[in-house]
Amino acid sequence: MPAPVPDAPEWIRSALERQASLALMRRPVVMESPQSTTAVIDGRQYDAFCSNDYLGLAYHPELIAAVQKSVVDWGVGSGASHLVSGHSVPHQRLEEALADWLGYEAVMLFSTGYMANLGAIAALATHSGLVVQDKLNHASLIDGARLADAKLKRYLHCDLTSAKRVMQSAPDGTLLVTDGVFSMDGDIAPLRDLAVLAQDHQALLMVDDAHGLGCLGDMGRGSLSQAQLSANQVSLLVGTFGKAFGTSGAFVAGSRDMVSYLTQFARPYIYTTAMSPAIAAATLTSLMLICSDEGERRRQALADNIRYFRASLAELPVTLMASDTAIQPLIIGDSDTALNVAGALRDKGIWCTAIRPPTVPAGSARLRITLSADHTKEQIERLILQLTKVLGTQ
Ligand SMILES: *Cc1c(COP(=O)(O)O)cnc(C)c1O
Repeated sequence: MPAPVPDAPEWIRSALERQASLALMRRPVVMESPQSTTAVIDGRQYDAFCSNDYLGLAYHPELIAAVQKSVVDWGVGSGASHLVSGHSVPHQRLEEALADWLGYEAVMLFSTGYMANLGAIAALATHSGLVVQDKLNHASLIDGARLADAKLKRYLHCDLTSAKRVMQSAPDGTLLVTDGVFSMDGDIAPLRDLAVLAQDHQALLMVDDAHGLGCLGDMGRGSLSQAQLSANQVSLLVGTFGKAFGTSGAFVAGSRDMVSYLTQFARPYIYTTAMSPAIAAATLTSLMLICSDEGERRRQALADNIRYFRASLAELPVTLMASDTAIQPLIIGDSDTALNVAGALRDKGIWCTAIRPPTVPAGSARLRITLSADHTKEQIERLILQLTKVLGTQ
């Protein structure tokens, strides 16, 4: 018998009741199968459409082999933070390979993308005290400005006129921050325009390309490559490994001085244990795959699936978002209905979670459908068929 624990105070219980009454309660689901386009949950198999493993690398035999070999050579834990004794040869190799791939002078690893964004923004916002962001930027970017205790101004989503207005009064050195591909909408920031805007105002442009790297651009180099921007037009590029790379962790790329500055002042880098060397080794293998012919084939397969899904859905009475990426959200509206739609799809063997506020703006709860290079045409057809039935009866 576990020891009795004190009852949670009343305010905690009422906060939970409120979440439940608003259809906003969240809980993790236990996956009984590895990442793939099918998922086993509670003993039942589903077609899965909500993983960020866009290229199907999370369960790739070469990544598994890389972890196995690295664990034998390097053990499991890194043992310390990067600046103490946790930065080993696999970490160093990965940083150098990423810098080469992206054309940046230097790269530093972070344990998660959330921490990379907190660390970089908090360390850089101290200078001008202002952070300017797209309204739909990822929560970790918003939280970075909060951690810095900086002033946060947001412009309308992907709206250059609005961004210009906000930047008008921005002091030199202001941090202008955007997602490359927006995580809940799948659309792409007007990066070339933002680069010009940043330059006009002596601002630092920071792009979080969590969902673009690996999937878009020449050799999977992401949104910047697709927009034909070079490293000298974007002061900081953030990438995460938990999406197309199929591992976990993150990096910030910049000039040598920028990375050295963050090494001194980014607290979420300094005061945390370095990622496992095995994850660094697997991520390097993942990068090699992304740059290889196989990576190109996987990007092609993903692009084919996106086209096929959008073409098939065009015949349904639903509004597609303006997204050409793996993220294909269907806006439902209120949270209750979104949960019902997700539940009805689940009954039909399709797994796709409803995304609700505060992750997305109020009234825009949605099915965030994500596609993978590994989805088969048959799986997409089943998804479309069930969407047709379920949305037709709502
Ligand atoms: C997932 C994501 C992050 C967070 O990365 P983690 O490594 O999962 O912490 C940051 N930014 C964006 C845009 C993301 O989609």
